Amino acid sequence: MALNTSIDAGNTRVLTKGVKTMGTHIKADKAFSLKVEAVRALELSNRLHSTLNLDELFAIFQQETRTYIDYDSISYSHPEDIYTYNFGQKKHHSCQYRLLIGGQNLGELVFSRRRKFSESETITLEYTLSSLLNPLHNGLMYHQAITTSMIDPLTGVKNRSTFDSSINREIALAQRHESPFALIILDIDKFKGINDEFGHLFGDCVLRDVAQTIKLQVRDSDMVFRYGGEEFAILLSNTCEKGAQQLAERIRQAIAKLECSYNGNTTNITVSQGIACLHADDKELDLFERADKALYTAKNNGRNCTIMSD
Ligand code: GH3
Ligand code: MG
Ligand code: MG
Repeated sequence: MALNTSIDAGNTRVLTKGVKTMGTHIKADKAFSLKVEAVRALELSNRLHSTLNLDELFAIFQQETRTYIDYDSISYSHPEDIYTYNFGQKKHHSCQYRLLIGGQNLGELVFSRRRKFSESETITLEYTLSSLLNPLHNGLMYHQAITTSMIDPLTGVKNRSTFDSSINREIALAQRHESPFALIILDIDKFKGINDEFGHLFGDCVLRDVAQTIKLQVRDSDMVFRYGGEEFAILLSNTCEKGAQQLAERIRQAIAKLECSYNGNTTNITVSQGIACLHADDKELDLFERADKALYTAKNNGRNCTIMSD
């Protein structure tokens, strides 16, 4: 595959695949070293094609290339921040590349070290990057497909199947580290009536507003899921009973203040919540069952309230 490099206004080298010209100027007496570069690039490409996982891909890239190019750090960022990779500590001198494939911007990759990179070293770097382009493109598409399959398309929070795969892993982690862990289950009150009165599109709008409100109240480390129709679950790592109770109340009050509007109709909504905190001897479904029971009690107590399980 031909390779073309040029420098754009931002002093970033642009590495493009799929063009006919050989833009990098290489002297004839370097033919032997070029052969070495080409063989290395082929070997590297084979290794990189062995995975679609981006963390693994960059780990292989970094391990392989550092055996023949001296650099201290490498960092990659996708233009829409769907993935970033950082290895090592950034140093003063850097070589920065924008990676393009078929006109599509795959992101920027920066190598850095204390000493300046020589021209022949940048040629080597560019050969290694030409091996990275296609595997990176495949890895990014795979990453996006996996991410999309984990998300509920209506509300943008994680879906039920992600909840099922996350809860046991998080519980095991919390039990191993003996750290507090809590689960909140939230259910919109009388939601069927909202659909019946204003229509399902209005109901969908309410679901989006509720999800957005929950997201605004939680920390980045908290995980929010749409568990079912109008039910949400929140997994709280390193959170004790008091913290979970405070958060749940903040969410309940914020939702009660919402004015949900769609197509000229406006209404207020409330939610009921059940909370359970992890016990050291909890088995797989115990935590969920306690939170669900507490939610049931909240409904029976007149709704628009939060109940903490034993
Ligand atoms: P409660 O206070 O006891 O929870 O009453 P409720 O009406 O909220 O509960 P119920 O289980 O009777 O009704 C839930 C409704 O949620 C029924 C269903 O049509 C609606 N629903 C589920 N998924 C969606 C969705 O994706 N969009 C819309 N608009 N409605 C949905
Ligand atoms: Mg429900
Ligand atoms: Mg409900």
